[in-house]
Amino acid sequence: MSWSSASLSLKYRLRRAHPRRGALHRRLNRLDLADAAEIKAVQEQRLRVLVRVAAAKSPFYRDWFRTSGVDPREIRTIADLSLLPLVSRRDLAERADDFRTLPRRLMWSVRSSGTSGVPIECYRTITSSVFELAVLEHQWGWFGLPSNSRRVVLRGSNFAIGRSRGPTMAVPGANQLLVSSYHLTPDRVDVIVNEIRRFSPDAIEGWPSSIALLAALLRDRRMTIPVDAIITSSEMMAPGQRTLIQEVFDAPVIDHYGQTERTVMAGTCEAGGYHVFPSYGIVETIPVEGSSTRREIVGTSLQNTGFPLLRYRTGDEVRPSAPGPCPCGRALPLLGVVDGRVEDTFTASDGRPLPLPSSIVDDLTGLREAQIAQLRPGVFELRVVPGKGFSQSDTAAHATRNIARQFGPGQELRVRVFDALPRPRSGKLKTAVVEQPLTGETRPARPAIPVQRDS
Ligand SMILES: [Zn+2]
Repeated sequence: MSWSSASLSLKYRLRRAHPRRGALHRRLNRLDLADAAEIKAVQEQRLRVLVRVAAAKSPFYRDWFRTSGVDPREIRTIADLSLLPLVSRRDLAERADDFRTLPRRLMWSVRSSGTSGVPIECYRTITSSVFELAVLEHQWGWFGLPSNSRRVVLRGSNFAIGRSRGPTMAVPGANQLLVSSYHLTPDRVDVIVNEIRRFSPDAIEGWPSSIALLAALLRDRRMTIPVDAIITSSEMMAPGQRTLIQEVFDAPVIDHYGQTERTVMAGTCEAGGYHVFPSYGIVETIPVEGSSTRREIVGTSLQNTGFPLLRYRTGDEVRPSAPGPCPCGRALPLLGVVDGRVEDTFTASDGRPLPLPSSIVDDLTGLREAQIAQLRPGVFELRVVPGKGFSQSDTAAHATRNIARQFGPGQELRVRVFDALPRPRSGKLKTAVVEQPLTGETRPARPAIPVQRDS
């Protein structure tokens, strides 16, 4: 991902200036007042559109409808979804291009390692990205936060490397001040606080682990930065983290749940409910083996016509939802607590905390499975299972570059190739782990590659 201020600003402006924005906001406002039957009707009308597009233009679904004997016109209601197959992350990892209905160049491509060690590539139409932003802004509106709010954003970063650049970067067109998640240390806190105060934010937004790191630094100095809202996503928030960030930033938490695959989205309301945004996607849940309380979220995207995913197994588990109706008065369906991403924070060679370290492997290509492990502070091991188009030297060079850009110079990385990554006792592969070196390697390891200094 390129983090240049100009490209971020352009992408944001493009979405904000889209001609359909006004109509989307009006539709979202109407759904807030709709009853359950009206909401279902809106979903089913969109579902029929998505199924029609998928059956006609996506090679994956074209093949499936032809061989299954199901007529796409039979899929008319949410109940009819059960006629369609479940799609797994593995299907996407192996055949992402077969899901596309449009040429690659007409869509935005995104890569992610997620939490499960299986890297995928997804595509988004510009219209679905505009819709995504509209839904987020709509949710902010529940808390009185305007769509042009000034936001401090802590979501990784790879801009803050070297002596010449500080730990923050302004994106004027997007009203954002980016703060590096990897440079939240006591010696930088004064610079960061001064930049934030000068920026005068309405909200702070990002990974809960990063916001909590900043909040802890502020608390240690008995400082607060009151804002109107704290916008979080991508990770589970521990209760201690929530208390800490609410104390330091003195604002309500606006959390949302989504996936790189963009099938469904949900978020908190001002009354504490966790609502599905029904025009974004349809949520089903299926049983989780070995658990009587948790279920897996299965999502059907209703907006991304360029990359239709119907009944996609997200791998995310959810607990039972609160009994309705929500005190906020909206009939939007309620979702339980999502057991989202929980990752150990890595430590750099100079002791800096490195939150959500799986982002290092997000954009690597040619891999069936990938895992980044911290062997000791500043010493990391990338474990990979080769996929289509794999090149060990390219993977090593790419990961080395990512580490230098994101974690900073002075780290060490080695790459080890496996036929299959050893599973922990839980059976669930994690993308980022802090542990000791593994045994059981199946191919010769390369010698350690010292990470080059970024000039
Ligand atoms: Zn509510």
